[in-house]
Amino acid sequence: MVKKGLKDIAVQGKRVFVRFDFNVPMDDHGNISDDTRILAALPTIQYLMAEGAKIILASHLGRPKGKVDPEYSLAPVAQRLSELLNQPVAIAPDCIGPEVEKEVARLKEGEVLLLENVRFHAAEEKNDPEFVTRLANLADVFVNDAFGTAHRAHASTEGIAHRIPGVAGFLLQREIESISQAMEGAERPFVAIIGGAKVSDKIGVIENLLSKVDVLIIGGGMANTFLKAQGYEMGKSLVEMDKLPLAQEILAKGEERRVKILLPQDVVVAKEFKDDAPYRIISIKDITEDEMALDIGPESARVFGNTIIEAKTIVWNGPMGVFEMDNFARGTERVAQAVAKCPGMTIVGGGDSVAAVEKMGVADQMSHISTGGGASLKLLEGKTLPGVAALQDR
Ligand code: ADP
Ligand code: MG
Repeated sequence: MVKKGLKDIAVQGKRVFVRFDFNVPMDDHGNISDDTRILAALPTIQYLMAEGAKIILASHLGRPKGKVDPEYSLAPVAQRLSELLNQPVAIAPDCIGPEVEKEVARLKEGEVLLLENVRFHAAEEKNDPEFVTRLANLADVFVNDAFGTAHRAHASTEGIAHRIPGVAGFLLQREIESISQAMEGAERPFVAIIGGAKVSDKIGVIENLLSKVDVLIIGGGMANTFLKAQGYEMGKSLVEMDKLPLAQEILAKGEERRVKILLPQDVVVAKEFKDDAPYRIISIKDITEDEMALDIGPESARVFGNTIIEAKTIVWNGPMGVFEMDNFARGTERVAQAVAKCPGMTIVGGGDSVAAVEKMGVADQMSHISTGGGASLKLLEGKTLPGVAALQDR
């Protein structure tokens, strides 16, 4: 990677401010219901402990809207970290201020302090210079390991890196390296699978991928708009009428650039957007006006699968159907299985895509599962992330 990583700097005895994404889901009793993000942070923290750094952790949690709200306290995260690290992790009363400064000054080498939710201050998301200064004064070095918020230029993700030297943590480094390796140094055939609800959410991604891939597979709700643009009757399917010209343009560009674009040729349709709605599997030619396409059909999944298996590089974003409903999850499941079997490099990004792959139990067969929905989309669009750009060059 072009940016410095943790191992490129000396941290012993230094106060190290590490930004993580500890935005974990909580249940109604304030217990952490999924600690994946905390587990993922351990390698960076343990490395800093072993190196004898004085470790200051920071994160946001939820949307407290710039006010102190106990509901969004990071205290449960400190508790969980203490258990996992086998050493006490204190929670600071705030993320700035004299009390916090005192606690930081008391830190010994290898000790860990978790600052309270940075979004208790509206200044965080405004990247307010005054607030940035107060955060930066707490530490000697900044480590960004919050990939999920790296596409936002906030005080603790971006601003701080302009005041004290910033480097990438292990998690962030792996995310950037995996995705940029696929995008820039892809072994061919390079196949992108794009799905999800709408074309409009992913125009940038599709346009960028068109200049890189050999095959573009389009499924999910967004395929409807392309099929409509090709003249098919899509009934009550989710179609973005204002994006029909764009869909035509993309299809034409694909032809021009010799990118093969694969669209579903059969679909699963129902008359209602309901899990228990009666459904049928039909050719895209036979959709009636009161039906909607909610998943790709088995024949499409088979054709997609044949291309997927042969790929050397795969980037997948967006489910093939309404995978939240079992009757319309099979297309996504079949594609997930094909990607899992593909011996090439396979990268899955996007909140719902990752949820789908996890639901289907094939997550561990992927080369890389991206933890940041918005941030991975930005990378697939070919954009740089502000939280990465601000780090020191190697
Ligand atoms: P990701 O989070 O992986 O980027 P998106 O948010 O773009 O994915 O899309 C996921 C959503 O798209 C899911 O909620 C899914 O139900 C919906 N979706 C997929 N196919 C269809 C379809 N044919 N009709 C309506 N919604 C669909
Ligand atoms: Mg989503």
